[in-house]
Amino acid sequence: MSEILLYEGKSKVVYEGPDSESCIMRYKDTATAFNGEKKEDLSGKGKLNSSISNLIFGYLMKNGVETHLIKIIDDTSALVKKAEIIMVEVIIRNVAAGSFSKKYGIAEGTALKNTIVEFSLKSDQLGDPMINESQITAIGIASADELAQMTKLALGINDLLCALFVKTGIKLIDFKLEFGRYGGKIILCDEISPDSCRFWDADTNKKLDKDVFRRDLGDVLEGYRDVLGRLQSVLL
Ligand code: UDP
Repeated sequence: MSEILLYEGKSKVVYEGPDSESCIMRYKDTATAFNGEKKEDLSGKGKLNSSISNLIFGYLMKNGVETHLIKIIDDTSALVKKAEIIMVEVIIRNVAAGSFSKKYGIAEGTALKNTIVEFSLKSDQLGDPMINESQITAIGIASADELAQMTKLALGINDLLCALFVKTGIKLIDFKLEFGRYGGKIILCDEISPDSCRFWDADTNKKLDKDVFRRDLGDVLEGYRDVLGRLQSVLL
């Protein structure tokens, strides 16, 4: 089968699907951080993220969340709905970490009095700047109604993910979601993996996510394998 490339990103490639309503998403082994400045191939990362994300999407779909996932093709590829990606990243924070800790001077690991919902503009060129709701509607990236839907969906997904991860002995610190328009609805797209979430071991606070790569903390994929194993033990 000849593959027609639609888009190549930092950690995934998207090919045309068998019909105009779908496409094929393939996970790559490339790890990047700091907007692509740090880059390395980690053999097996694509397969791990694909397995983790497919398990999580399957769980969310079972719990009524509409996603782009149609069918798993192989270890690194899935058939997905060809949604029109909304060009904002939705970030949910349960515990202070990362850019939030740095920007506001709040120690990593500090509990938050409420869940934070943040948006950033999906633009590698601009370094994904944070953007607020009136800015998003002003420049026409999404309507107020779409933003309200994405916020509600993201908070619902957070509740489901927290309920799942507590069973695995993992704290869900924060994560990033992407949504798309498909058939008049807003659906969950992209991936949910240790590349896009912060996962800390509940007992030791050991990092099991991409911060191990960002901060050179050791064997990156050891944490990813641990996350997959724990998810398999509660979901399969
Ligand atoms: N995140 C992501 N892609 C991005 C930016 C952030 O997947 O382009 C995830 C990141 O892995 C973390 C959460 O979103 O789980 C919050 O990231 P943060 O804003 O703290 O940025 P970072 O410290 O990763 O630069």
